[in-house]
Formats: sequence, structure tokens, C-alpha cells
Amino acid sequence: MSNNELRQLQTRVDDVNLKILKLINERGKLIQDIEQAKGTQEIHQYDPISDRKMLDNIHDYNNGPFKKSTIEHIFKEIFKAGLELNKNDHRKALLVSRKYKPENTIVNLRGEQIGDNKQHFIFGPCAVESYEQVAAVANAMKEKGLKLLRGGAYKPRTSPYDFQGLGIEGLKILKRIADEYDMAVISEIVNAADLKMAANYIDVIQIGSRNMQNFELLKEAGGMKKPVLLKRGLAATIEEFINAAEYIMSQGNDQIILCERGIRTYETATRNTLDISAVPILKQETHLPVFVDVTHSTGRRDLLLPAAKAAMAIGADGVMAEVHPDPAVALSDSAQQMDLKQFDHFFNELLSSKFIKV
Ligand code: PEP
Ligand code: MN
Repeated sequence: MSNNELRQLQTRVDDVNLKILKLINERGKLIQDIEQAKGTQEIHQYDPISDRKMLDNIHDYNNGPFKKSTIEHIFKEIFKAGLELNKNDHRKALLVSRKYKPENTIVNLRGEQIGDNKQHFIFGPCAVESYEQVAAVANAMKEKGLKLLRGGAYKPRTSPYDFQGLGIEGLKILKRIADEYDMAVISEIVNAADLKMAANYIDVIQIGSRNMQNFELLKEAGGMKKPVLLKRGLAATIEEFINAAEYIMSQGNDQIILCERGIRTYETATRNTLDISAVPILKQETHLPVFVDVTHSTGRRDLLLPAAKAAMAIGADGVMAEVHPDPAVALSDSAQQMDLKQFDHFFNELLSSKFIKV
């Protein structure tokens, strides 16, 4: 074969490549059109029966030189690419995504605009134990000009024999404090049936780590006209976390604050591993404000300040930490709550940090 003939054959291979490219993209476009025609309700999923039919049809027309297995392999990759194309389109359409809404969502909590590019703070005891206990923390916060107070009335405890929270009595204490101190109160609700009742007492519904994928609770919270603070599941990926927020927003409630609170890893030096990189990822992927809970992530009082500084430096919208007037006798999380003196020190140090934007 002459050099010229060889070059001609190579040129034909190049032409065929371009034809294949054009056809693959044409196929991708058709798959997108089919998905669009189906509407947004029906999420595209892998359909093995339809793939088998297409493969059988292709085999009927295969005259070689490629073997059946090779053809099958190539086409399965093409099918997969089509599926991925739709997956990406679906992700683009998530209501919580920045692709869907480029500007930051602002959650207004009694005048504090969470998500306004400044940093905010949520403090308060792990659990509401008494009016006096919460009031002591509220006083210390008021002196610092802070007005976002947390406290659990329904405590999701590892052991059923541990303190489970004061329930509605705890919510009533929070409401009294909110009114007397002009504060916004945040409290975890664990049961969808309690949401409407709880909304009479609290300003923000917290959905805890253990309930991040309690889809019925998420949907019910999505139907409320109350802001939701959603904590990352203790073994949830960022994608799962984002989808949990989507459950809430899909029901019409866009007032959501995400809260990174550490994930379970093999590391035992801390209670959980604070996934600090989740903060900028969540900020990039979603338009929602992102908080960091330094208490439950580290589980260590000595790490609260450096973890909070890291959260500020990496761009969190705020920090949550637990404060108790006498942690030694606290009914939950006594090892990591700060007492009022430690709280003073923590907050002063944080305010003087060069990363702070208040
Ligand atoms: C809490 O904030 O009170 C709490 C129980 O945290 P988490 O759900 O993150 O464990
Ligand atoms: Mn706690």
C-alpha cells in the first residue's frame, strides 16, 4: 500500500470519528428531549429492561468485525453517559443549588440576617433543664449583644435511660426567655406530629443529625412557615445533606440554615470529625447559609475556640456552641459545654480573631 493510500485511510478514520462524535451527541440530545418531555416529576432512572431491548436490537444488526461482547461494552458506556447527562441536569435543577439561585438566601431571625456575609452566633445549653438555667445563659448572651439562643427540649439520646428533655415544658421555658430577653430561640423537634405545636413556642426548628434523613419530618418541616436549622447526619455525605435540605425546600420552605456538626470517622481523638471543607463546598453548591457546630463536632472544650476560628476563616456564616451555667451538673453533654467564664473568654477571643466579620 502506498503512503498516499495509507493517508487516505487514516483520513477516513478521522472522518468516522467525527461522525461517531456527532451521533453520540445527537443521541445525548434525544435522551435530554425525552426527559424534558416526561416533565420534572419523573426522575430519570436506570431502566435495565429498556437497555436490554436496545442491546438486542443492536446485536441483530451487528455484522462485525467487533464481537458481541465488545459492542455490548461500547454501547453500555454510551447508555451510561446518557444517564449521567440527565443526572447532571437534575442536580442543576435542585432548588437549594446555587445553579438554580445564584444569590445567597438570607434567613431573618428577629432582625439578624443570617447569610448576609457577616458572621452570627448561636449559643445556649445542650438541653433546657430549668428556667433559671436558661436565663443564666441568656443574661450572659444579652451582655454580649447576642440574640440567637439554642436549647433542646426533645433530646435524641443514645441510651433510653438518659435524660430525654423536658418536652413541651422546655419549649415553654424557651418562649418565656425569648419574650423576656427579645431573643430568637432554636430547638430540636424530633417528631413531625409536634411541629405545629412547637411553632407556637420557638423561632427556628432544628432538625438534628440523627433525623437528617427522616424524610417525613423533613417534608413536614418544609410545609411550615418557620426557619429550619438542618444538621448534617453523622454519617451523611455532602450530597445526602444537600438532598435533605431539598426535601424541605421542595415543600415551599426556603428558610433553611445548614449546620456542619462533624461526621463519624475512625478517629477517636474527637467525638466526631469536623469536616471543615464541607463549609466552602456547601457554600459553592447551595445558596443557603452554613453554620458550624463546634460543640458536637469536636466534643472537646479545648477545641471549641480553634474550631470556631477555622469555621470563621473558611467562610462559615456562623458558629454554634453550647454554654451551661454549671456544665459539671448538666444533664447532657457535660464534658464539652462551656461555663459562663469560658464563654466570655471564647467569645472575646473569637471577636479579636482577624477572620471575624461581624
Ligand atoms: C444538638 O444540637 O442538640 C444535637 C443533639 O446535635 P446533633 O443533632 O448534631 O447531634
Ligand atoms: Mn449537646
